[in-house]
Amino acid sequence: MYAPPIQRLIAELSKLPGVGSRTAQRLAFHLLRGSDEDARALADAIREVKERIGLCEVCYNLADGPTCRICADERRDPELICVVEEPSDVISIERTHEFRGRYHVLGGALSPIDGVDPEDLKIAELYKRAQAGGVREVVIATNPTTTGEATALHIATGLRERVPGIAVTRLASGLPVGADLEYADELTLGRALAGRRAV
Ligand SMILES: [Zn+2]
Repeated sequence: MYAPPIQRLIAELSKLPGVGSRTAQRLAFHLLRGSDEDARALADAIREVKERIGLCEVCYNLADGPTCRICADERRDPELICVVEEPSDVISIERTHEFRGRYHVLGGALSPIDGVDPEDLKIAELYKRAQAGGVREVVIATNPTTTGEATALHIATGLRERVPGIAVTRLASGLPVGADLEYADELTLGRALAGRRAV
């Protein structure tokens, strides 16, 4: 129907989350109509982010160097670690201004059905950080979904076995069940963080 380069663009755009084939077509034609400069700026931004952004070697948050800005910040409490599923969750929690510790980004949640096992997440790395000492509390802030809860339970058990002295807490209820943290408003998430309980 379309020339191969247009088909290729539509195919690539339709791989984006929430973009169906109709939206992909609309975006492709928008880019074709727009200036060369705008299209090149978008292509360059995508290329640059893939070249320059990697994972923090300490917490696996996104970083534009060996460590992320939070791990590099001396004022952040190194004894308090908040465990989240994705880098976007770090942003959600940072927005509450309630948390002054460090993070650990798992890279997803356990889901045996989808083939996501403990080895696929940064769980062993979390245990290693906790076992290295100097950690007082681990706050598990995985999403209040089935997979997020299963992940929280798995980690809480694993931490208790390996580092018995450490406090393991979970965000308080009040978060919308089944939803991702990124959809929780700052006030609700801030309260859930302040009211965290031992698990
Ligand atoms: Zn980091």
